[in-house]
Amino acid sequence: MAIPNETTLRRQMIQFGRLCYERHLLVAMDGNLSARLPDGNILCTQAGCHKGFLEDEHLVVIDRQGKKLRGKGKPTSEMAMHLACYDERPDCLAVVHAHPPIAIAFTIANVSMARCVLPEVVLTLGTVPTVEYETTGTQTLANRIRPYVRTHDAILMDRHGAVCLGTDLMEAFCRLETLEHTALITKTARDLGGVKELPPEEAVKLRSLGLKRYGGPPLSVAKADAPGADLPEACLSCSGCGNPSPQGIAPKSDLKLARLVETQAGQTTRLEQIIAEEIGRALGR
Ligand SMILES: [Zn+2]
Repeated sequence: MAIPNETTLRRQMIQFGRLCYERHLLVAMDGNLSARLPDGNILCTQAGCHKGFLEDEHLVVIDRQGKKLRGKGKPTSEMAMHLACYDERPDCLAVVHAHPPIAIAFTIANVSMARCVLPEVVLTLGTVPTVEYETTGTQTLANRIRPYVRTHDAILMDRHGAVCLGTDLMEAFCRLETLEHTALITKTARDLGGVKELPPEEAVKLRSLGLKRYGGPPLSVAKADAPGADLPEACLSCSGCGNPSPQGIAPKSDLKLARLVETQAGQTTRLEQIIAEEIGRALGR
């Protein structure tokens, strides 16, 4: 895919910044956007500007090491995170980072979104893992997301926000929208009594089909035909679908209880729920 010229990318960045704000995916000075320029450098939003009211002067150009080449002000402090995405994924041409409120609430409540619930989301996006908490704007956080972005196009950072990758800003934005919409549907289902997950074999079939039909992280696409490997590979921290998590990144132990409660919601007796809540309280949640 040809990378649009800088003038077009600047126009798109202003447009998608506004859309993120209008769709309640960020507020005030939250979030940041970036896109790869045809010469390999990165166009990104400046630190401390409102993404809903971006103007051309709020955009800066940096090199792949994060050094500013052109523009006013400083690049956003979270650029290390964006650069990690570009390093890990040569297919990634745009990154949108925002603070979608319902999805973030899932991380605060320790409820995983790495689950196979909505067929079309499994097909087009796979699952959304949560990266363990780390201080915002640090290189440590950037390094922490690296293994996740190799096999996911959308990730959540604990208590912080989402990072969505795309082959253009539109695709990265759509993934962000889908992530928050999925969080809203899942939350509503939880409010109504529980979340029914897709049967594991259907989830594996859908993900395999989706990777072949719509693409995705090259590492996952390469395994789309490997029996049983497609979904876990695209779903590093998922245990909800019944497939074992691959070694290396184990699900956070404190997520297990939340999953247990959720998996059984609808059938869980009140007593079991009270016991689970008590254990949760004792563990400090
Ligand atoms: Zn942030």
